[in-house]
Amino acid sequence: MRLVVVGGVAAGLSAASRARRLDASLEILVLEKGSRIAYGACGLPYYIEGQAESLDQLTLHTPEFFRRERRIEVRTQTEVAAVRHAQRELQLVSGERIRYDKLVWAAGARPVHPSRPDDRTFVLRTDADAARLQAFLSERKPKTAAVVGGGYIGLEMVTALRARGLSVTLYEAKGHYLHRDDDWLTSRITGLLERCRVAVKLRTPVSSPAQMGEDVIIWAAGMQPNTALIADAGAATGRTGALQVTDRCETTLPGVWAAGDCAETNHLVSNRPVWLPLGATANKMGRVAGANAAGARERFPGIAGTSIVRVAGLGVAFTGLNSAQARLDGFRPASAVIDAQDRPRYFRGRKLQVELVADLGTRRLLGATIAGDEGVRGAINVAATALAARMTLDDFLSLDLAYTPPYAAATDPLLIAARQLARELR
Ligand SMILES: Cc1cc2nc3c(=O)[nH]c(=O)nc-3n(C[C@H](O)[C@H](O)[C@H](O)COP(=O)(O)OP(=O)(O)OC[C@H]3O[C@@H](n4cnc5c(N)ncnc54)[C@H](O)[C@@H]3O)c2cc1C
Repeated sequence: MRLVVVGGVAAGLSAASRARRLDASLEILVLEKGSRIAYGACGLPYYIEGQAESLDQLTLHTPEFFRRERRIEVRTQTEVAAVRHAQRELQLVSGERIRYDKLVWAAGARPVHPSRPDDRTFVLRTDADAARLQAFLSERKPKTAAVVGGGYIGLEMVTALRARGLSVTLYEAKGHYLHRDDDWLTSRITGLLERCRVAVKLRTPVSSPAQMGEDVIIWAAGMQPNTALIADAGAATGRTGALQVTDRCETTLPGVWAAGDCAETNHLVSNRPVWLPLGATANKMGRVAGANAAGARERFPGIAGTSIVRVAGLGVAFTGLNSAQARLDGFRPASAVIDAQDRPRYFRGRKLQVELVADLGTRRLLGATIAGDEGVRGAINVAATALAARMTLDDFLSLDLAYTPPYAAATDPLLIAARQLARELR
């Protein structure tokens, strides 16, 4: 029995590894069109910033490791050109045909490219993209940069390019960042970027580098799931454009599973299919897809869209829905935003801003947005756990959270926000 996995990064290699653990006899082949596998694309902006000295530091494993330690065959520079599911066969760009009994589609996503790109315009998705950008920055020594897109990749690149001393302009078509239209967050990020001498141009759509005068342009204006080949073979895509999958990561084609950035997943709060391409989700979905391809019956319940990004030193994190998203999903949201200290002032406490959203009718917690320093990660994870447990605001208010001055405030900022929200719900 042969399992073929298309895509050799987070979802694909998690699937292959888990399938191997559950079935020692399976023949497992991973096909990857790039020349590097198992690397953290999440680290690419930090490689450009200078935190990692080489792309090798972002790479977890080599094909040799998988062959030796897991008996998984990984072929790099091997691109699939077509899926012939009726024959259970993949056609490679080279013309070679590869037979499969079971298939995991983990082909990820690709950046949206601008119209008429030129040689100073870069996207950032793969190690090769990062290598090209790094070479351009080192050789041409640009002084001015434009970043197009105020999503997390755009904001990370603004931070990285400022750290390298470039003068940076950020162009964003909408009036906010990170797909979150919360005014307090927009003004905090704008204020911070302006203090870092970034020229911020919100509500400024650009469609082509041709209009732009900067020396280097980072195009970070969105992504699309890689679904075309498997959709041509008959797998259904959902309303988001990504592959439709069940909670067992099955596509609509029998014997074909999908995981990671190419697939939809269930949102734990709205209970609707969403496309939120994130690394940790890809790893977890990949494990479930691989287990089921190896004959298990595991479930992937979904995600709350929990994510965190560093913007010019500020940690910004989300989980669940903000008010606008909650309204679109049919809830009646109420929210409260508070400013608090993450620790006592005498322990260099820093400002932590917390917004909690709950449903007016059921008092169920729907989401949290948090901005601040180191405490952001812990706080968002508590909120994410509360969402997974479907807590009401009242359950949340009675959480027993830790306190000691070096690490925490006497009243946790999350609870201050919850009390404020409870007052508003009254
Ligand atoms: C700059 C950047 C920063 C990020 N930061 C974060 C972060 O901080 N936190 C977070 O959670 N997520 C982050 N992400 C997202 C995270 O990297 C992705 O969610 C994760 O890589 C998805 O893994 P995947 O295996 O589904 O897809 P991918 O990593 O896209 O891997 C899919 C692989 O499939 C291969 N492939 C595609 N088509 C074919 C074909 N026809 N034949 C053969 N191979 C093919 C591709 O070459 C690719 O290597 C970041 C992404 C980027 C680009």
